[in-house]
Amino acid sequence: MADEKLVKHKGGCHCGKVRFEVMAPAILHVYDCNCSICKKKQNKHFIVPKDHLTLLEGKDNLTCYTFNTHAAKHLFCKTCGVQSFYVPRSNPDGYGVMPHCLDEGTVEDVEVEDCDGQNWEKFIAENPGIKERSKKE
Ligand SMILES: [Zn+2]
Repeated sequence: MADEKLVKHKGGCHCGKVRFEVMAPAILHVYDCNCSICKKKQNKHFIVPKDHLTLLEGKDNLTCYTFNTHAAKHLFCKTCGVQSFYVPRSNPDGYGVMPHCLDEGTVEDVEVEDCDGQNWEKFIAENPGIKERSKKE
């Protein structure tokens, strides 16, 4: 992970009010989670350190939904309802970014890892690597 070269991806919500850029590998490591909210939202995401994402536009257009432990901050555009990035419970010091909300042209490939969010405590205990994804080298 440490020697992965980062590229600048741009992305945003559907209506275009929320726009961001994010430094991440060209081959994205995406988590496909089956927890209660990820399942309903089909919330596939890759994780980056917080300062790798820069919000370009739409700060005031983001709204936030939380539940249960309120650790995850489910941010979404209040105009179009699209979540393009959020703060995951697994990585409160990072962002989970939606690969399907990135502009075309910078993503070379996507590798998907299933994340057993339904058994969250067990999954995190058995996969400590997920926490490293929001850490800087
Ligand atoms: Zn929008």
